[in-house]
Amino acid sequence: MPLILDGNATSKIIRAEIKAEVAALTAQTGVKPVLAAILAGDNPASQTYVSMKERQCGRAGIGSITYPFPSDAPQSAVEECVDKLNADPAVHGILIQHPLPKGMDEAAVLARLDPAKDVDGIAPQSMGRLLAGMEAFHACTPEGMMELLRRYNIPVAGKHAVVVGRSVILGKPMAILLLAGNATVTICHSRTPNLAEMTRQADILVAAVGKPEMITGNMIKPGAVVLDAGYNKVEGRDTDVGDVHFASASEAASAITPVPGGVGPMTIATLMRNTLTAAKRAAKA
Ligand code: NDP
Repeated sequence: MPLILDGNATSKIIRAEIKAEVAALTAQTGVKPVLAAILAGDNPASQTYVSMKERQCGRAGIGSITYPFPSDAPQSAVEECVDKLNADPAVHGILIQHPLPKGMDEAAVLARLDPAKDVDGIAPQSMGRLLAGMEAFHACTPEGMMELLRRYNIPVAGKHAVVVGRSVILGKPMAILLLAGNATVTICHSRTPNLAEMTRQADILVAAVGKPEMITGNMIKPGAVVLDAGYNKVEGRDTDVGDVHFASASEAASAITPVPGGVGPMTIATLMRNTLTAAKRAAKA
């Protein structure tokens, strides 16, 4: 049986650490970290994520305000909200929930974000800073996966990491973070021929595809560390299903994240950590 990289247990420890740090920050400086979320449209997955985030923030003493917009709201209204939140010293982090409704230019809205408040780390200015090796908030799911590796003392330097998926929120930043950790990185995508040949070379394999159980045990090098970011709704299954076929992958992997309870819980914990960091920087300034 491989080592199970338990995101539930790890994120619980991180959230407890954050709660203690929030209390200390507020006691010392009077600053209470506040995260604002812009929720445009009625995507049920987005609504669930934002309400989970509100609940977790509340438990850690982080203030949480949600700004809802209908699906047909003009882009200018959302942009005005971003501008207002950028300028509000009581707000430390801003999350623009992805995806924005059809017709809105998501990149243009994200580009308005003050990088100091982009705690979700997916605005182009944060990505550029990450690529340039400058201080920036890192996209929460990739950073959550890196933190999981750190917490389990799994080395990255010198390893061959293969990332399947190249989305802006997941695959690309994950590849850059692994590279920053001195891994040798291969990025695969839908046009990669012979995917299994690539994945079988991975010491660290990251699945960020959005295709249920696409990565099977025969695609995994014996002893590899497998991180499964996927969560997919599958009819007839009670819980979300990862991009990795857990049972067959477990026969090859030395360590693996389950779905649910692996990568998923690390995302919100990272968002909260980033918000706390933004508040600490603001308090110092
Ligand atoms: P996207 O659909 O934006 O990207 C999927 C990527 O997978 C694309 O780069 C695509 O390639 C690639 N891909 C698709 N099919 C194949 C294939 N057959 N072989 C190789 N590569 C393929 O998805 P996201 O990155 O947003 O999400 C990926 C998964 O992670 C989903 O299951 C999603 O639900 C989950 N997720 C989890 C989060 C968490 O908190 N745990 C947060 C966000 C997402 P191409 O670029 O060529 O199209």
